[in-house]
Amino acid sequence: MDDFATRLLAWYDLHGRHDLPWQRDATPYHVWLSEIMLQQTQVATVIPYYERFTSRFPDIQTLAAAEADDVLHHWSGLGYYARARNLHKAAKMLVADFSGTFPADVEALQSLPGIGRSTAGAILSTALGGRAAILDGNVKRVLARFHAVEGWPGKNAVASRLWELAESHTPDCRVADYTQGIMDLGATLCTRSKPDCPRCPMADDCAALALGRQGEFPGRKPRKVIPTRTTSFVIAHTPKGELLLERRQPSGIWGGLWCFPEVDDDAGAIRYCEETLAVDVARTMALPTLRHSFSHYHLEISPLLLTLSKTPALIREGQELRCWPAEKAPAVGLAAPVKRLWEQAAEAIQNSGTGEDL
Ligand code: SF4
Repeated sequence: MDDFATRLLAWYDLHGRHDLPWQRDATPYHVWLSEIMLQQTQVATVIPYYERFTSRFPDIQTLAAAEADDVLHHWSGLGYYARARNLHKAAKMLVADFSGTFPADVEALQSLPGIGRSTAGAILSTALGGRAAILDGNVKRVLARFHAVEGWPGKNAVASRLWELAESHTPDCRVADYTQGIMDLGATLCTRSKPDCPRCPMADDCAALALGRQGEFPGRKPRKVIPTRTTSFVIAHTPKGELLLERRQPSGIWGGLWCFPEVDDDAGAIRYCEETLAVDVARTMALPTLRHSFSHYHLEISPLLLTLSKTPALIREGQELRCWPAEKAPAVGLAAPVKRLWEQAAEAIQNSGTGEDL
């Protein structure tokens, strides 16, 4: 075992996290789920989602048999919904092709949707007793700093170098502890800003610390200006006191989630009601603009609450439209801004008998 791994394990025994919910019963299913949830999301945020998700879907079989809406509903608020769709698809594949068990092989694991090399390594080493390196965001930061690896890890050459280092430090024994330990070191001491070097077991020979350049590793992604897109949402309110949602296509932003119909502007919202829903609009009310940021653009949403003269027939080829009582957002997959707008619309309906005519 190399000196890096020895020191890391000694530190982990004393200071690592040993009581995370997915560690209490570290089955491959639990480790997989936690790894997917932890991509782009902090531990503290993940824990309540993880608890709710596992109590509703306690095993792969239950997840595979679930309706997509139910899975997305339990993911609602965590963001990056492709993760939930892939999780569901992978569960179905595990049941259909692997008898409901995880293959103890990195390549076979990587053949499942949403499982990359690092997640496969984490499942194998943490839950299946194998040996495999991992390279998630925390590990990249620790290794890039310890070895002063220049460059942005999104570049192939930098990623290859980091993988080589990850492989070389991964020990042959106590791999599960090592894997958890290096993630914990990155999450608790070698943090993105203000790393706590004086308490770090790697401080004696950390290259970034010796250079006084901890903040420069790993290299940053070249900056791009993120564009802003504008859109309008049709919040159609029926005479029965319901709001209407449309299920989005399976791929793309908010794929498979229920959303207010999207149009270009207020005039488009009226047209949507008249032409697509084939009902007249009795009243309109503009709700405050909402800004939502994705990794590659900002979305500025102008929501328009429209009171319909009658309940639409909801027949539209190739798309799904449904109404639910306005008082409470339905228990289906809803993107965070849709949920927020639902609550605002419900409040506006309750408080107001009047609307502002266009
Ligand atoms: S010494 Fe500092 S920069 Fe180096 S690995 Fe430890 S916490 Fe990170």
